[in-house]
This record gives sequence, structure tokens and C-alpha cells, in this order.
Amino acid sequence: MAILVFAETADKKIKKSSLEAVSYAAAMGGDVVAVVLGQVEGGELEKIGTSGGTKVLHADDAKLNEGVIQAYASVLAEAAGKAGADTVVLAKSSLGDAVAARLSVKMGAGLVSNVVALPQGNKVKRSIYTGKAFANVELKSGKKIIAIKKNAVPLKTDGGAAAVEKFTPSLSDADFKAKITSQEKAKGKVLLPEADIVVSGGRGLKGPENWGMVEELADALGAATGCSKPVSDMEWRPHHEHVGQTGVKVSPSLYIAIGISGAIQHLAGVNSSKYIVVINKDPEAPFFKAADYGVAADAFEVVPKLTEAIKAL
Ligand code: FAD
Repeated sequence: MAILVFAETADKKIKKSSLEAVSYAAAMGGDVVAVVLGQVEGGELEKIGTSGGTKVLHADDAKLNEGVIQAYASVLAEAAGKAGADTVVLAKSSLGDAVAARLSVKMGAGLVSNVVALPQGNKVKRSIYTGKAFANVELKSGKKIIAIKKNAVPLKTDGGAAAVEKFTPSLSDADFKAKITSQEKAKGKVLLPEADIVVSGGRGLKGPENWGMVEELADALGAATGCSKPVSDMEWRPHHEHVGQTGVKVSPSLYIAIGISGAIQHLAGVNSSKYIVVINKDPEAPFFKAADYGVAADAFEVVPKLTEAIKAL
């Protein structure tokens, strides 16, 4: 029985979190058929095979380049039928959540999101309460949709070549009732929700004029920049950089927190990061309890040295 994977794209590239979804499906066993919607850059489809996929269904219609949720759900339902797949795996994201909900209705499938481990029979482990606890959910439906959290499984990099098949879904006007008329890109070289490394600053940085050193460290690491809530409330940084319970929730491989105290509301947005590094001059700052590595020192001394050391690598 094949497993269908929704391979989400951004800027004509397959997202790393979607490649993780392919690896997750491969670890479940059986054929893994990934659906890629819209046009993608050369070399992108090959990544599906490397990540463990056996087949790619590519619907390269330019109308599917944008995140048209209704159309995506229709195409995926059709692709699941074509592939004979009762299980769909996708990466949890805002687009993924919207598509998965509609797809579950279309397929009559049970849906579980925020999944952090491979299923054990019909039981799936999911993260709840912003990563503070886990729940084991039993999927009793015949058809299943599993939305996995970023970094839930290691990305496979030694898969073979996946067969690519052009897929022309039977779309209708009803699938394009909502239309994206314009898009405004958030500033920043790396987008925060997708970033593999995040360098984040808090009130300890004293003011917006000191953000140069955060940006320089982020540039050296190819990271996105984030901030605590008060920092965005005071407009030192744009609102879309605010990380936490009431902001963006991130799951990077590395989260570097500079001059952030580590209030529970901030931790709620970062506690599924793989590694957390805290730089804070107060050794009693609560963030150190959640840190894998910590530097109890003045950020204004440490950060420039750290950036220099990284640049010298
Ligand atoms: P502070 O608490 O002022 O901490 C600054 C830190 O910088 C201190 O630990 C200090 O030791 C350190 N420091 C100072 N100078 C230096 C230096 N030179 N070098 C190194 N370290 C230094 N907050 C969020 O971030 N995200 C949220 O989503 C969020 N949602 C919230 C929702 C609700 C309902 C509520 C009530 C609060 C929420 N908050 C949120 C706010 C949260 O409770 C904290 O107030 C906030 O996270 C603190 O931000 P901070 O750590 O930048 O500032």
C-alpha cells in the first residue's frame, strides 16, 4: 500500500520539512508517492528520491504555484485515489494545516497533527500544550492523515532515484474560488518559520540600534532573526519576528537566544528546537534551564566574538 506525501514548496523549492515528511513515510515502509504542486526549480524533484520517496506525481500547472488551499486539497484527494494511498503524510505548517483539514473531509480520513514519532500500529504520538506534553492518539479510521512536526524524524539523504510522473489533475473553477491577488514577502534573508537556525534577541539588547550584531551573527550562520514579544511591542523589530506563545512557533535545529529571560510564553514558541543556546548576563535567568548550552556573560562582549569565530571557520 502506497503512502502519499504532500511535498510543499516555497519559492519553487521543496521545503526541508516536506522532505522530512517523505523520510517519515519511507520509514513507515512501502511505496512513497510525493505530490509536488506547481512549477519547481531544476534538481528539486530529485530530492524526493534522496529523501526516501519512490515516485513523484508532479502537477506543474502554474495555477498551482501559489498556495490555493481548496485546489491543493482537491488535487491531493485525487492523487491519493490515483496512488491507491489510504495514508497521507505532510509537514505541519500553516498551509499544511489548512490543506489537511479540507483533505480529511474530502477523503473521510482521520487527521492527527503535530506528530513527533513514527506510528506504533494505529497509535501516533503528538506534541500538545506547545510542546510541554505528549499525547498518544489512536487513529481508528481506515484512511489517515498525519501532519508531522519539523525535526520529528531525521532527514534521509541516501535514498535512490524516484520515478517522476506528470500529473494533470481534473481541477474546476470551484477549486479556485479564493484567489491570491498579491503577496508581500516578509523582509529578511531567511524566513523565520522555515529557518533551520534562528538568532533571537530580547530586551537585554537595550535598543534597536544594537541589532546589527544580531543580524551579523545571523548572516554568518545563514540564520533567520527573531525576537521576544516586548521587543516587537516596542517596535525595535517587526512584529513578524516575535517568537513565542502569541507569536511565531519555531522548531529550528539551533535557536540562539541573546538577552532573553526565558519567560514561559517565550519558551512555548521555541521548546521544540533541537539545540538551544542562551547568552544572558544573569546566570539565574530561567532560559538557562531550557538551554543545551549557555554563556552567562554580557552579550555585547560575547556576540561579536562569536560572530568573528564563526566567520573564521
Ligand atoms: P526581559 O524579561 O526584560 O529580559 C531581558 C533579559 O536580558 C534578562 O534576562 C537580562 O538578564 C538579560 N540581559 C540584560 N542585559 C544583558 C546583556 N548586556 N547581555 C546579556 N543579557 C542581558 N513573550 C515572548 O517573548 N513571546 C510571546 O509570545 C509572549 N506572549 C505572551 C503572552 C502573554 C499572555 C503574556 C502575559 C506575556 C507574553 N510574553 C511573551 C511576555 C513574556 O512574559 C516576557 O515578558 C517576555 O518574554 C520578556 O522578554 P525579554 O526576555 O526580552 O525581556
